[in-house]
Amino acid sequence: MRNYLIAGNWKMNTTISEARDLAKAVSKSAPHNGNVIVLGCPPFVNIQAVAEIAKGTHLKVGAQNCYFEKKGAYTGEVSIDMLKAIGCDYIIIGHSERRAIFCESNELINKKVIAILASGLTPILCIGETLDERNAGKTFDVLKTQLDGCLAGVAVEDIPKVVVAYEPVWAIGTGVSATSNEVSEAHAWLRNYFVDKCGDFTAKKIYLLYGGSLSDANAKETLAIDNVDGGLIGGAALVAEKFITIINTAVELAGDTGAAPSCCCGCK
Ligand code: PEP
Repeated sequence: MRNYLIAGNWKMNTTISEARDLAKAVSKSAPHNGNVIVLGCPPFVNIQAVAEIAKGTHLKVGAQNCYFEKKGAYTGEVSIDMLKAIGCDYIIIGHSERRAIFCESNELINKKVIAILASGLTPILCIGETLDERNAGKTFDVLKTQLDGCLAGVAVEDIPKVVVAYEPVWAIGTGVSATSNEVSEAHAWLRNYFVDKCGDFTAKKIYLLYGGSLSDANAKETLAIDNVDGGLIGGAALVAEKFITIINTAVELAGDTGAAPSCCCGCK
């Protein structure tokens, strides 16, 4: 039996009515009490509406970003407590678009990881190399620098409360997914990184998601790969039928027994 987390990153898409329609369709397919968790991450302004639809279903709701300070003079920012109060369980942080367009550093992302964990929510930490970095043979140096920086100061026992999404930048939104060999190699490296950091038992509890042009067409091949515990999905998460196919693929691969996930703190 495997556990999966299937997360949709809706990015800056969906008006409130589109968000409601998508949430209604997806929430009907979120498996009941199974070992597949389904998550939708709408834009901030649609989170509350989606959380109301998700209530009483097995759809979880998350945000795409947050600020680490509790409150105050941070114009344009949204706090973790605000997100928690409207029904968020997860927060995506360090997405490559935030790193590239909004100049987010590992140091800033680290502050967000620590604040999210302190609030009892689950951070989904995105990491990944650019094409130039891959071509220069620097993929694992980049991943190590990102992980070391973003997880600095996080206690070993808290590491499994962080979901890690490996998202090669060159595969995001391009329609060109990483090959199975590339995903397999990166996820094996990630698992080993965490074995070294916190031991075999704890490392196995960490959800390692793959993201980058994951779709209904390649979900079976990708989700079957060892050490892939789910996906962070952009484009295909906006089309209910495609996202539901990915959910159903995970349910099939998980060999869903109807058992509740082993832990509710974010880990498997
Ligand atoms: C993403 O936004 O995290 C992502 C992986 O997008 P896409 O699935 O469209 O490549």
